[in-house]
Amino acid sequence: MDDRTEIEALRAELERANYEYYVLDKPTMSDFDFDHKLRRLEELEAAHPEWKTPDSPTQRVGGKVAEGFAEVVHQVPLESLQDVFSFEELREFDQRVREVVEDVTYDAEPKVDGLSVALEYENGVFVRGATRGDGRVGEDVTENLKTIRSIPLRLPDSLPRLIVRGEVFMPKSVFQKLNGERELAGQALFANPRNAAAGSLRQLDPKIAAARHLDILIFNIQYVEGKSFTDHVETLEYLESQRFKVIPHTLCATIDACAKRIEEIGDGREEFDFDIDGAVVKVNSLAERELLGSTAKFPRWAAAYKYPPEQKLSKVVDIVVQVGRTGVLTPKAVIEPVRLAGTTVTNATLHNQDFISEKDVRIGDTVLVQKAGEIIPEIVSVIKEKRPQGTSPYRLPDRCPVCGAPVVRDEDGAAMRCTGAECSAQLLRHLVHFASRDAMDIEGLGPANVETLADAGLLKAPGDLYLLQAEDVAPLEHFAKKSAQNLVQAIEKSKENDLSRLIFALGIRQVGQKAGQVLARQFGTLDALAAATEEELSAVPDVGPITAKSISSWFADPQSQHLIEALKDAGVNMTSKAEPLGDKFAGLTFVLTGELEHFTRKEAGERIQAQGGKVSGSVSKKTSYVIAGEAAGSKLRKAQELGVTVLDESEFLKMLDE
Ligand code: AMP
Repeated sequence: MDDRTEIEALRAELERANYEYYVLDKPTMSDFDFDHKLRRLEELEAAHPEWKTPDSPTQRVGGKVAEGFAEVVHQVPLESLQDVFSFEELREFDQRVREVVEDVTYDAEPKVDGLSVALEYENGVFVRGATRGDGRVGEDVTENLKTIRSIPLRLPDSLPRLIVRGEVFMPKSVFQKLNGERELAGQALFANPRNAAAGSLRQLDPKIAAARHLDILIFNIQYVEGKSFTDHVETLEYLESQRFKVIPHTLCATIDACAKRIEEIGDGREEFDFDIDGAVVKVNSLAERELLGSTAKFPRWAAAYKYPPEQKLSKVVDIVVQVGRTGVLTPKAVIEPVRLAGTTVTNATLHNQDFISEKDVRIGDTVLVQKAGEIIPEIVSVIKEKRPQGTSPYRLPDRCPVCGAPVVRDEDGAAMRCTGAECSAQLLRHLVHFASRDAMDIEGLGPANVETLADAGLLKAPGDLYLLQAEDVAPLEHFAKKSAQNLVQAIEKSKENDLSRLIFALGIRQVGQKAGQVLARQFGTLDALAAATEEELSAVPDVGPITAKSISSWFADPQSQHLIEALKDAGVNMTSKAEPLGDKFAGLTFVLTGELEHFTRKEAGERIQAQGGKVSGSVSKKTSYVIAGEAAGSKLRKAQELGVTVLDESEFLKMLDE
């Protein structure tokens, strides 16, 4: 077979495999074969760049990073839909329709909660895809759309021009996995699959979009040349024949049949791998649609039914507290089971202490519970009249229910967090942070591998990392002899890291990478840091009272001490290697006051530390020098009282230069 023929054959084979896997959900080719063939195709295309085409399966993996998205004026506007909020309003819609056309048949479909896009095909080849934007002008996101495997890049028919409309979504299963990974990596979580899909589709780097595993359901032909249709369902069937993944659709002879189908869709919503935010009812006949026309905003021949959030009464049997991977305590009400929006609900989120206090939710209370869409059920209100006697307001525990460490409230929010250094609920997060690049920088120990090692029972606390043996790691999934050895070597190497990395890796709240460096330089050893009082800590430049408190309470916790012992036993370096740039100020303590002309106080403090000096926040007999700038205040007076030498800025500069 010549190269040209082989390229064609591989493309056809790979696209067929894609279609069977992503549209029909019936895989026929093994991943191994697929990857192998794709690699072969890549090689052939690299050897013959002149035969590269935009519809080749190799173009799905994510091309160049874009600088921005070009505007696309939609040939046919992507209209909105009129909403109806009850079956009564649905019947009114039906009456309006039947004033214009008699004998109408509808099609009912789930309303996918994602992002609307238009896909353009020329001579059967996918040439451009754009977001809805304002309906008239959208953004060109072709490269990102190509990463969606259920979008055919070439159609069996080569119609001169075809534009279809669909809804891009992130499958619920992908969403859960993605958020789980983001939580571990300390990244902000997506609020829901819709936001995640929107964020992914607008990534400038198509490789990121590709990693998000988006999917699409097609629900309309916007424009077609070279073919004509009489009704909507016929167009959907044609799209199916063209290998699109098409929206589930049901013909309904009457509006009552539509209502029944809408209820079924609502009850079955848990079964879909996509979120829905309603159901859409559409007139089936295209000729009738013409007659009905559109208003400025939406077509008169379709309506979006929005499901009311279902509410039921139940009783709070208990309040339990879960500890998440980042240590946040989340209270949950255990309630008597009720059926809501197609599922049996046995608990409801209480969010946080503020939520509980505001609604005054107590164990034993009768509560109104609501489930809106896919959101976790929540308590709408407490029926106070039904409250039994002898209840008391609920307060979250001040110790972690998992490990017993103290719980602190986040500085900037309502969340309560466990501070346990070895809390098993936070093990994965602790380990991922410990190994991360700016912390102990252990190569090969990302979230996935940490999870594998913890699942295998090899890691129960961060200190266990240093006990890992290559023979125990090698048999695990994703590992082999070589990679296990590399990992153990990387862990071994991390023992030599500077103290500043270790301090950051411990995961003390408020202590970032910068604070790790400052503290390492200032205290020199981990023991000295552990022994520092809150006051001494606050005197360090860059360390405020909140951080100082967080550090000293962290070291006071038995779990932290246990962790430090384990790290010491393993031989992890506990001293600072940061050479002071000089030792001009070794043994001297400085206090800074007033405004300096040439430095901020922070900069001056860094210069002092760089010469081995210490900076303190308050003047005492031990102070060697007070450096007084403009408008110096009480510290200057105190220095004069105690007879401490006071330097002005020019004298200080001279000392630095000498
Ligand atoms: P809205 O934005 O609330 O006016 O609703 C209209 C949106 O619903 C459109 O942008 C479509 O992208 C979306 N949609 C989701 N599923 C469907 C469907 N089956 N038929 C029509 N529109 C749908």
